[in-house]
Amino acid sequence: MRVKLAAGNWKMNGTGNDLAEARKIAFASPAPRSEVLICPPATLLTRMADSVMGSPLRLGGQDCHAEPAGAHTGDISAPMLADAGATHVIVGHSERRSDHGETDAMVRAKARAAHAAGLVAIICIGETEAERDAGRTLDVIRAQLAGSIPEGAGAANTVIAYEPVWAIGSGRTPAPAEIAEVHGTIRAAIVGAVADPGAVRILYGGSVKPGNAAEIFAIADVDGALVGGASLKAADFGAIIAALDAA
Ligand code: PEP
Repeated sequence: MRVKLAAGNWKMNGTGNDLAEARKIAFASPAPRSEVLICPPATLLTRMADSVMGSPLRLGGQDCHAEPAGAHTGDISAPMLADAGATHVIVGHSERRSDHGETDAMVRAKARAAHAAGLVAIICIGETEAERDAGRTLDVIRAQLAGSIPEGAGAANTVIAYEPVWAIGSGRTPAPAEIAEVHGTIRAAIVGAVADPGAVRILYGGSVKPGNAAEIFAIADVDGALVGGASLKAADFGAIIAALDAA
């Protein structure tokens, strides 16, 4: 039985004024059955950790460096995230892959660093629109998985997030059958790459909203969602969490 996970990715959004939204999620009553995570910008991690202390809300980073420390101006390491109150970190988000040229090998090194720091790595994969149109989605997914998952990965330290690049922030989502096909492919492809493939959680991400969450969470092998824009407001994220609890 996989515990469902609703993970919010605040991206480069949020200042101290927005901590109230995180508190509403953290102290929602009744508490959700699903695991809930917010990945705020690094500037908010410590303050958010303080402000939601005592709640079941977990916090994560949005990226980490592959090295634990050193001369890497502007970067943040996995041990620093853990020290700031994070239990998780997103690695390989498509915006990191496109804005910063991150390759599968770099994503794997970051996931390895996350594991070494005791963090759960949320490894993001997903095809571009051109790759889907060319019928290459499943090949792309398999290649990204093969390149991005480090040795020693398993359900305790790794979550896979399927995020079609063209669905992120666009308001568009794949058809349920297309999501099911990819999630089934991921479940099969991680056999041999992780210790316990049946226990690893696979999230869907890309324009998840209160209005489409129930339909997406009803799909086989969808164990939750990675949510961008709709995680910024507690009303929207709370509705998505409620749909996940009800699925
Ligand atoms: C994301 O950033 O991971 C994401 C899925 O964004 P959105 O929900 O806004 O499409």
